[in-house]
Amino acid sequence: MDKQESAALLQRLLQGEFPDDHGRFGSFGGCFAPETLISVLKALEAGVRRHLHDAGFAAELGRELRDWVGRPTPLTPAPRLGRNWGAEVYLKREDLAHTGAHKINNALGQALLAKRLGARRVIAETGAGQHGVATAAACARVGMPCTVYMGAVDVQRQAPNVERMYQLGARVVAVESGDRTLRAAIDEAFRDWVSDPEEAYYLLGSAVGPHPYPWLVRELQAVIGREARAQFLEMTGGLPDIAVACVGGGSNAIGLFHPFIGDAGVALMGVEAGGRGTGLGEHSATLGHGRPGVLHGSYSFLLQDADGQVQETHSISAGLDYPGVGPEHALLHSIGRVSYVGASDEEALAALQECCAAEGILPALESSHALAGARRWARDNPGKRILIGLSGRGDKDMPTLSQRLPARQAGASHAG
Ligand SMILES: *Cc1c(COP(=O)(O)O)cnc(C)c1O
Repeated sequence: MDKQESAALLQRLLQGEFPDDHGRFGSFGGCFAPETLISVLKALEAGVRRHLHDAGFAAELGRELRDWVGRPTPLTPAPRLGRNWGAEVYLKREDLAHTGAHKINNALGQALLAKRLGARRVIAETGAGQHGVATAAACARVGMPCTVYMGAVDVQRQAPNVERMYQLGARVVAVESGDRTLRAAIDEAFRDWVSDPEEAYYLLGSAVGPHPYPWLVRELQAVIGREARAQFLEMTGGLPDIAVACVGGGSNAIGLFHPFIGDAGVALMGVEAGGRGTGLGEHSATLGHGRPGVLHGSYSFLLQDADGQVQETHSISAGLDYPGVGPEHALLHSIGRVSYVGASDEEALAALQECCAAEGILPALESSHALAGARRWARDNPGKRILIGLSGRGDKDMPTLSQRLPARQAGASHAG
C-alpha cells in the first residue's frame, strides 16, 4: 500500500468510519458466516448500536467497572526496569483488575449488554480458560446462567480454571468432537447459539470474529487506553513516546492503542508470540508471518499453509496461542500505524523474571511478551518514555514457570 492510501485510511479510521456498514476495517473484517448466523449477528449489531453508547448503559457499566472490577487500574512507574533499559517505563496495571487480567472489562460489558438485549443465558467458548473464568464471574455478577464450551483436551490441561468456572456457577461442556481444543469448542458454541438465538447471547472473548464483535470488544477495552492516556498526562505532563502491548487476538492491545491512534507523536507497537522459531507451527506471530484469509467469520491475517489450511501454532503463553488476529490490527499493520514484532518464549521468560526482580510484579507470560518487545525497543531508542500494557498477572503461569525455570527451583535456599 502506498503512503497516500495509508494516510487516507488512517484519516478515515480517526474519523470513526471503521468499521463501516459492512463491518469492515478497510478491506479487513466483515461478516463471513452461514445464513443462519447472519440474521443473529445482524440482530446483535442492532442491539449494540442501540445500547452501547446509551447514557444509562454507560452509567451502569462505569459503576460496575469501578465497584466490582476495581477500575481505574493504576499506572505504575517502573524506575528500576527503566534504569536497566535506559528508559522511563510506566506499566498500565490490568493485572490488578478483578480476576487478574483485562478480559473482565469485555466479559462484564457484554454480560450487561446481554441483559439489556433480553437474553436469558450466555454462551462462551474458552481455550486456556481465562476468558471462561472472566465470563463465569461476570455472569454470576449480573445473575445470568452461563455455559462455557471447552475442548476436552483443554479441560484436562486447564483443570484449575475449570474448577474456578464451576465455583463461579458456570456449566462447563467438554467438547469431544474435532480437534477437541479451541476450534471444536468454537464450532459447538456457535451451534448452540444458532439453535437458540432468542434466549442465548454469545459472549466472544477477543477483538476477533465476525462483525460486530471486533468493534464491540474494542469499545469495551478502550477503557484501558483512555485511563492510561489521562494518567500518563497527569503523571508526566505529556504523552509516552511509545505504547506497547502483547497481541493474541488483539483485545488488550487495541484497547490500549485506540485512544492514542490520533496522537502522531506516540508510536505504537504490538508484540506477538515468536515462540521457539520462525518455522511452521513454532510460533503464533500472525501479522509477522501470516497472510490474509478468512477465519472465524472475519477476513484478516491468518497463519495458513500454501493450501490455505490453518496452521498449528505454538506459544509458551496460552493466551497468545491463536492462528488469527483481529481485523483492526490487520488494518493498522497494513497502513503502518502500528508496528508488530515478535518476542520469543525465552525472551518472554527473561522479561518476566526481570520484572519480578526489579519491580515486585509478577506479569502474565502474555504480558511478558510486551515487556520483552519494549525492552528491545528501548535499547535502540535510548532515553524514551515507554507505556506498557501489563495485561494480566502471572499467578496462573506457575506450572509453566516451574517446568521451564528448574534452575531457580533447585537453587532455593534452605535455612535451619
Ligand atoms: C487472553 C490474554 C491475552 C491475549 O488476548 P488479547 O485478546 O490479545 O488481549 C493477553 N494477556 C492476558 C493476560 C490474557 O489473559
